[in-house]
Amino acid sequence: MLPYFEERSTLQENGCNTWNLSKSTSGYGICTYKNKRWYTHRLSFKLHKGELLPGMHICHSCDNRLCVNPEHLFQGTPKDNESDKINKKRNVRGTASHYSKLTLQQIKMILALKGTGSARKVGELFEVSQQTISRIWRGSTYKDELQSLVNVE
Ligand SMILES: [Zn+2]
Repeated sequence: MLPYFEERSTLQENGCNTWNLSKSTSGYGICTYKNKRWYTHRLSFKLHKGELLPGMHICHSCDNRLCVNPEHLFQGTPKDNESDKINKKRNVRGTASHYSKLTLQQIKMILALKGTGSARKVGELFEVSQQTISRIWRGSTYKDELQSLVNVE
């Protein structure tokens, strides 16, 4: 863990690093880093594990909102009810092709990753072919789904 977090948190018996400084009213750690206000768990994830994808939340596997241990943080979908809604829409549409294992949330993530890596690498991440990724990026696949994604938001 980076000294920035080590110096400002306390290691708990369960492995959590509890933030020692400011807290938001919602109970998350907050700090100013490079002139920008951050939730400490989001900053920790970004600095240790990589970019935050648009629309995604950083979740605590330990349920400790003050924890900044990157091992306890994972990127997840924003709201359960939203992904539930999306899944239901998808089921109604009944996509029968082999692409159907991608959820709208994943398509959104794939689009967000456009330009950050090769189609092959992104494909590996989502367990689909390089061609599928390229087609999504070119917009020739999932047109309906992308349209409905716009409606969801
Ligand atoms: Zn923790």
